[in-house]
This record gives sequence, C-alpha cells and structure tokens, in this order.
Amino acid sequence: MPADRPANLLDLDAASLQRHFAALGEKPFRATQVLRWIHQRGVADFGAMTDVAKSLRAKLVDSASIEPPVVVGDSVSADGTRKWLIKVDGANAVESVYIPEPRRGTLCISSQAGCVLDCAFCSTGKQGFNRNLSTAEIIGQLWIANRELGRHGETHGKGERIVTNVVMMGMGEPLLNLDNVIPALRLMLDDNAYGLSRRRVTVSTSGVIPGMDRLAEECPVALAVSLHASNDALRDKLVPVNRKYPIKDLLAACNRYLERAPRDFVTFEYVMLDGINDADSNAKELVALARKVKCKFNLIPFNPFPESGFTRSGPDRIRRFAEILQRADITVTTRKTRGETIDAACGQLAGDVADRTRRTLKNGLPGIPVKEVRA
Ligand code: SAH
Ligand code: SF4
Repeated sequence: MPADRPANLLDLDAASLQRHFAALGEKPFRATQVLRWIHQRGVADFGAMTDVAKSLRAKLVDSASIEPPVVVGDSVSADGTRKWLIKVDGANAVESVYIPEPRRGTLCISSQAGCVLDCAFCSTGKQGFNRNLSTAEIIGQLWIANRELGRHGETHGKGERIVTNVVMMGMGEPLLNLDNVIPALRLMLDDNAYGLSRRRVTVSTSGVIPGMDRLAEECPVALAVSLHASNDALRDKLVPVNRKYPIKDLLAACNRYLERAPRDFVTFEYVMLDGINDADSNAKELVALARKVKCKFNLIPFNPFPESGFTRSGPDRIRRFAEILQRADITVTTRKTRGETIDAACGQLAGDVADRTRRTLKNGLPGIPVKEVRA
C-alpha cells in the first residue's frame, strides 16, 4: 500500500481486511477484532481500540485509515423518518433514508451518484451519471445511520439492531456497480459487522440481467425488480434498459435468481403513472406475466418532480389496479401516504449540494414536515 494513500478500512470486507492484515504480518483474528470495532462499535480511531495491541495500532495508523463519508444534510420528519445527505465530491451528494416502523427499521441507501439508465419518471436518471460510490461510501451510509441513531453496538426491541433491514433503493443502479456493492453487501451480512440476514437486505434493479446473474452467484440477497410496465413497447419507453434486456429475458433471469435467492419470490415494483401504465388492461397483462415467476407486487404512487411530465394515478385507480392483481391471487402492497414520502426520499432529489441543503432547510422534504434540521 503506498504510504501516501493509506487503505480506507471501510472499503474492505472481512476477506480483504484479512489480506491487508496478512500483508502487515498479522493474524486473521486481529482483522476480526478490528472489523468489530469499526462496524459493530462504530469506532473510527485506532487509538480507541483498546484490546488491540499498541504495536498493531501503530502499524495501522501508518498503513490505514477509517474514513466514513461526510454528512452534509440531516433532516428528521415528525414520524421519525430521517434523511441524510452524504457528500460524494465537489457539489455532488447522495442520500440515505431511515424509516422506523413498529417492529423494524429500514435504511434505504444509494449505490451511485446519478444513474446512467435514464428511466422516464426518475429524477436521479434525469441528473445523468456522475460516478460509482466506493464500498466505503456504500457501507458508510449504514455506519453513519448507526452512529447518528446512537445505536452502534446497542440493541432495541427483542435483541434487534435499530437498522433491521437495508434496501438498495436510493440513488443509482446497484447492479451497475457490483464491484463495490458486493463487498458492502458482504459486510451487511457478516456476523462480525452488521449481521443482517440475507432476507433483510434487498437489492433493487431496473433489470440489468448480467448483474442479476452475478449477484445470484456471489452474494444472493432479496431481489426487487422495477418492472413498471406490462409489455415491451411501454417498458422500452419508461425503463430504456428494457431495449437491451426485454421482459421475457428479464423473467427468465428472475427465475434463475430465485434458484439461489434467500426468498422464494421476487418483488416487482410498479410505479403508478396516470394514464400511462395504470389501465385495467395493464393489470391484466401483469397477471399473465406473474404466472411465469413467483412474485409479489409493490405499487408505488408516482412521486412528481418538476418537469417530469407525469402525474400520479388517483387512489381509486390504484385500488382498482391492485384488485385485479389480487383477484388473480397475486400479493400486492401499495405504498401508503408515509410510503409516498419515503419514495420522495428515495432518488427524488436533484441539483447540487447547496441547492439540496437549501431545499431541505427551507421547505423540508416533499411531504415530510421538518421538525429538526442539522445541516
Ligand atoms: N436503480 C434501481 C434502484 C433505485 S430506484 C431501480 O431502478 O430499481 C428505487 C425505486 O424507485 C425503483 O423502483 C424506481 O423505479 C422507483 N422510482 C424512481 N423514480 C420514482 C418516482 N418519481 N416515483 C416513484 N418511484 C420512483
Ligand atoms: Fe436509475 Fe433506478 Fe432511476 Fe432508473 S429508476 S434511472 S435505474 S435510479
């Protein structure tokens, strides 16, 4: 490791950390000790790792660093939903959102700054692509949430950590950044780090088939697929990656994934766009598709943003659409008012850090009344 660029240990999963320690002439259990300090106890200072030999601490200070990403915005809603803006570089920031519920706490995290896939209804897509987040920036969002929620190393409820579930539904397409996403997922699952079960970690993809196959092979977790259309002609327009990976191939990839997945179904996300994809005929086409893969549907009322050109389907339309699926024995959930707020949080901010911080401070997040803001 060049002396001028020490390794950021937040970039390393357990296996890589052990390799780093081996290069320093240290035993694997030392790496485990340090992994626990970093991820279970939220310690970013080698000096505080009291059961690590002083000589090793000195070596680590010389050869490594622990650098979590920088928080540039922090807002809390009345219902406890909390959002952090994480500085990427220059004027760029990404977001993570914590959603507390009675028996669980879900953290929605980002994988890229911007996104290359340009889905018609997504404000992240409209920003274009900036860059992949590093492993440290991805796992750092969970590290920060634990620190900010004051729960590093503590438990709540029946012995559960406060972040019980992680969903990769923030900004970016996780399957286009697997080199960095997979080590972060491994840390989420590692008993010496966050110890989450595979069923409680969900990756959401717009349907990048080679990425689905690689994820199944290297680190299968729960899978959500952004379907959003019931036929190729419509999906080509709404989710342009469909032109490369059409629905038939996508469903086949879902079935391959399910051979390895921790759950026996895929969640199909379906954004409800007024007059675009929400007709009875669309629901009926979905019923036919759902016969080909074990799946559940999550209907997401569209979150409008300036100049998107779309509006949200009305509640009656969404209810009727859900009914058609349910009558065909398909499990359907619809994100509720609070869920809408969360969608707004997931991938909905655009512009530079200053703009976002201003918007957060002045107006709060769309639909989230701001109780307390630290920026
Ligand atoms: N790139 C991945 C994950 C991030 S987006 C993906 O596309 O799956 C997470 C979810 O939010 C996706 O289902 C996405 O389609 C949806 N989404 C994006 N923009 C939205 C909007 N304006 N309203 C509602 N849902 C939106
Ligand atoms: Fe990218 Fe997902 Fe937004 Fe599509 S919906 S542009 S894949 S972040």
